Amino acid sequence: MSEIKSVNPYTGELLKSYPSLNEPGIREKLELSDQTYNNWKNTSFSERAELMSNAGKQLLKEKQKYANIISLEMGKVIKESVAEVEKCAWVCEYYSKNASEFLQDEPIELPDGKKAKLSHEPIGAVLAVMPWNFPFWQVFRFAAPTLMAGNTGLLKHASNVPQCSLAIEEVFERAGFPKGVFQSLLIDSKATTQVISNPIIKAVTLTGSEKAGASVASEAAKNIKKAVLELGGSDPFIVLKDADIDLAAETAVKARMINNGQSCIAAKRFIIEQDVYSKFVELFSGKLKELNQGDPLDEKSDYACMARADLASELYDQVKTSVEKGAKVLVGGVKPEDGKALFTPTVLTDISSNSPAYSEELFGPVATLFSVKNEEEAIKLANDSEFGLGSSIWTKDLKKGELLASKIESGAVFINSMVASNPHLPFGGIKKSGFGRELGRYGILEFVNTKTVYLG
Ligand code: NDP
Repeated sequence: MSEIKSVNPYTGELLKSYPSLNEPGIREKLELSDQTYNNWKNTSFSERAELMSNAGKQLLKEKQKYANIISLEMGKVIKESVAEVEKCAWVCEYYSKNASEFLQDEPIELPDGKKAKLSHEPIGAVLAVMPWNFPFWQVFRFAAPTLMAGNTGLLKHASNVPQCSLAIEEVFERAGFPKGVFQSLLIDSKATTQVISNPIIKAVTLTGSEKAGASVASEAAKNIKKAVLELGGSDPFIVLKDADIDLAAETAVKARMINNGQSCIAAKRFIIEQDVYSKFVELFSGKLKELNQGDPLDEKSDYACMARADLASELYDQVKTSVEKGAKVLVGGVKPEDGKALFTPTVLTDISSNSPAYSEELFGPVATLFSVKNEEEAIKLANDSEFGLGSSIWTKDLKKGELLASKIESGAVFINSMVASNPHLPFGGIKKSGFGRELGRYGILEFVNTKTVYLG
């Protein structure tokens, strides 16, 4: 029987190990999900809202415990882990308050005087295949709307965060949700394929890499099931010459370094108008070097290590190949020690268009800087990417910002701010960043049957 291991990436220490669920174990959980759904779908919004609000309270009550699990298991610094748990409580509260209104019946008046309505009904058990980078947040932003809509949820979490997976199941249990409304499946990717094809599963959502997304969405399509994909990004951060350069540079460091750079919406390509390029580069590199590297559990650490040693090694390969193709290293560029997850923040300039740093997602603390002649060139470069998740534009002229936002190919544009997810704002991408939306009203509408009822 294969094992799912929880390893502290900062020290390499094995924390715990769990046997993967076998076939009968998986079947039992799927059947429980299905049976529970038959009652859960008939509960009222107010019953569900009370439980979801309890989940938020449970998160806050034991936030330090949950934050420690996150930091130990995937290397996020503790202050960011605490903020992540608090954000999960926020999304629970948000859908607890708003789900009923979001899913109200919608009357339709037809031109011939007849009436119809749209009702938004639950669909059944929904599977979430989730990543390790925000191991609580990614799950709660799926679970809060999905359960509030009357569905049940099953979680196949990333193999390196089994403790987070079980802790999330515990949150829902302690909040008082009936057993089976939300379950964690400790399984590997291979078993996931069988789960998707099981008739009990009605839809699937995945956050992760392009490769995992393509595989899961293909399996869903083969079985005629809906999929939502939230994949990678290579978000541009455009700084125009009329921007507040100090604020832009300070925010740029945060936007690149959040979660040690391992975020789909981290700013990855910094596109700067040439008149302010050298000032921006100086401020950005200076502020980056001021950050404290240290133990994830130390309150003073600004960043610690990557989530796994293999991820650090892959990122270094991307840097090395880009340098071989002409990129210059302004900061960092240090090879990580073999088998270690520590990665020195790195800044690259003079990036050629045939290098990985130009076209691939850099999922870690590596920033790429580009100087452009004008706004048109900035937009052209921003759009020259297979990805289209978020983007950020910095200018004091808001009208110009809005105009340029309309020319950017992405699921979100933030003007004079870094891209950040927020329960109130729909979130998702275009191009190879995926399809479908999470959060806001659009998020809860992904996993419902919007039924037309004609009132003849
Ligand atoms: P993956 O995309 O491989 O993992 C994400 C989730 O998908 C995990 O639960 C994983 O399970 C699962 N998964 C992977 N392959 C399959 C499959 N064929 N069928 C079913 N489930 C699958 O991420 P990695 O950890 O390998 O990270 C690699 C890269 O992915 C990163 O460098 C980054 O570019 C991107 N990524 C993007 C994220 C985002 O937020 N958009 C988040 C994480 C990664 P298991 O762990 O068991 O393989």
